[in-house]
Amino acid sequence: MTIKSRLEKRIEETTKWEIRRQYGADGPNEGHLWVLACMDERLPVDEALGIRADTPVGGGDAHLFRNAGGIVTDDAIRSAMLTINFFGTTEIIVLQHTGCGMLSANGNDLEAALRAKGIDVDNVPMDPSNPELTLESGSFAKWIGMMDDVDETCLKTVDYIKGHPLIPDDITISGWIWETEFRRLRAPITGTTEGRERTQYAASVMGVKGSQPPRWS
Ligand SMILES: [Zn+2]
Repeated sequence: MTIKSRLEKRIEETTKWEIRRQYGADGPNEGHLWVLACMDERLPVDEALGIRADTPVGGGDAHLFRNAGGIVTDDAIRSAMLTINFFGTTEIIVLQHTGCGMLSANGNDLEAALRAKGIDVDNVPMDPSNPELTLESGSFAKWIGMMDDVDETCLKTVDYIKGHPLIPDDITISGWIWETEFRRLRAPITGTTEGRERTQYAASVMGVKGSQPPRWS
């Protein structure tokens, strides 16, 4: 290939990259991928998954959604719905991690701490465009989304997304755990501590008393 044609190709690709979203489903990200990950600064999404999504920012391989815990919430569903149905994404990865802040306290205690600050947790605005969207009285603690066990939460999150009516059946969905202690990725493990005994995989391991307010019905 001549330099001339190589430069022409590169410029054509760059131009398309800039206006990619105008192509809708014909302009997907490179990995055709949506990642739901915890916001924790010690969770290196690119290293864990072997992709380039946020290093450098705009690496191109995924639409990356991060929140506290990497849990499924209304905004996670909204974002997944858009990328899956309209931007050509065909795969979802849920990435959570050991030692997560969402394992480090009981949701009831967090609610009590906010009440002690004088905050009325029964009347919290949720969405400026939907002021009618409010939490049912008494549901604030479970809305926080604290976890008992990160592996269980990861698997439940995957199942929930799989069964969601806005997510088509042919989407590939998987969940993974990043071991913060050992800087390595593994599949979720349940029913045993074998393979995860030296990690902070559960709230009880992190010294939290009692079960979290039940989040899944
Ligand atoms: Zn976390």
